Amino acid sequence: MNLEYLLIKPVTPIRLGSVKPNSQFLSTVDYISGSVIRGALAEYMKRLGKESSIKKLVENSYFSFFYPSNSPETPSYPFPLTSLTCKNNPGFKSDGEECHGVFSQLIPIIALKELKLLGAEFPVDLNFKCDNCGSRMDGITGFYMKGDYYKKVKTEKFSQTKIALNRLTKTSEKGLIYSITALKPEKLFFIGSVYSEEPVAEKIEEALNTVGVGSHTTRGYGRVEAQIIKPPVFESLDERIKLFNETLRKVWAELLSIALDKSNLPKEPEDEYFTIDLLSPSILDDNNMPTLNLKLDFKSESLKQILFLAQPVFISGWSTAYNYFKPTTYGAAAGSVYVYKTSKNLGELIPLLEKLELDGIGRRRGEGYGEVKICMPFHREVNPI
Ligand SMILES: [Zn+2]
Repeated sequence: MNLEYLLIKPVTPIRLGSVKPNSQFLSTVDYISGSVIRGALAEYMKRLGKESSIKKLVENSYFSFFYPSNSPETPSYPFPLTSLTCKNNPGFKSDGEECHGVFSQLIPIIALKELKLLGAEFPVDLNFKCDNCGSRMDGITGFYMKGDYYKKVKTEKFSQTKIALNRLTKTSEKGLIYSITALKPEKLFFIGSVYSEEPVAEKIEEALNTVGVGSHTTRGYGRVEAQIIKPPVFESLDERIKLFNETLRKVWAELLSIALDKSNLPKEPEDEYFTIDLLSPSILDDNNMPTLNLKLDFKSESLKQILFLAQPVFISGWSTAYNYFKPTTYGAAAGSVYVYKTSKNLGELIPLLEKLELDGIGRRRGEGYGEVKICMPFHREVNPI
């Protein structure tokens, strides 16, 4: 299998969203779903008169979601659902002087939950308040990137009112006014990947540069410059798991120091922990019933899920390649987190977890659903940064 990365730079405003036939207000999302990339490739092959080769090209390929970034070198990731920021002055400290920081509450939650299970009692409940102004904390959504510092990805939208033209007479039709919202192309990049049996990135590059991305491309929207890039640098799986557990040990010790009855409690966790972080929405089943929880079959019987935080998201779509609406279903949103622990040495699990990062989870993997990472480094930011 080949894992190839692409950078997409919009040249004109870009509109990304499913087609709503009866709406006069066409909104946009701020990411490119895998099916949009796959659809562009299919359309390009059609234009070349090579329809027969579409199936072979897309059949054994996973087209990832392409997430927005403000830098061509730095990919972005969805905030985990465990992210918190100051309600009054949200954002990373490096986003601006007025921002009070963002952190992930996951590791403190794990330590607290596990200590309480062991019988620990605390004088007060864990209650996160802003270090800076004492305000309450709130969740944060969207995408973050990490170059020299963590930053929230900024995308800018604008709307235009258009008059629909009658295709036959080329005159405007009464009442057919609609508003289209698109992303501005300035300082906007999208980075994503394709994982496939045969290398396919070059074909995708050609396709995107020819047919564009998103809707209303015949009206000048969604013209892009796409190019193949080197894989972005990312910490190794071993390193991420090791550092995640190191941070957990530190937070454990801090919490233990304020516990009322610490003498009987272990100085550090006895098990090893890891997360599965959803980088894209995941369509999960349990005995053919949709579910938000992730049941994993590992060989090891000592593996236990200790908590998960997931949010439902509706998933629909339009198949450009085959011209039909795909059935609407629901999945677990990007940013959902599942936490497991094992009493065994995690080293034994590494090959399985590595495979999970490549293969993903759940259904419709070809369209980029179910992409996961183990122990995202951002969880180690347990203090506002
Ligand atoms: Zn604050």
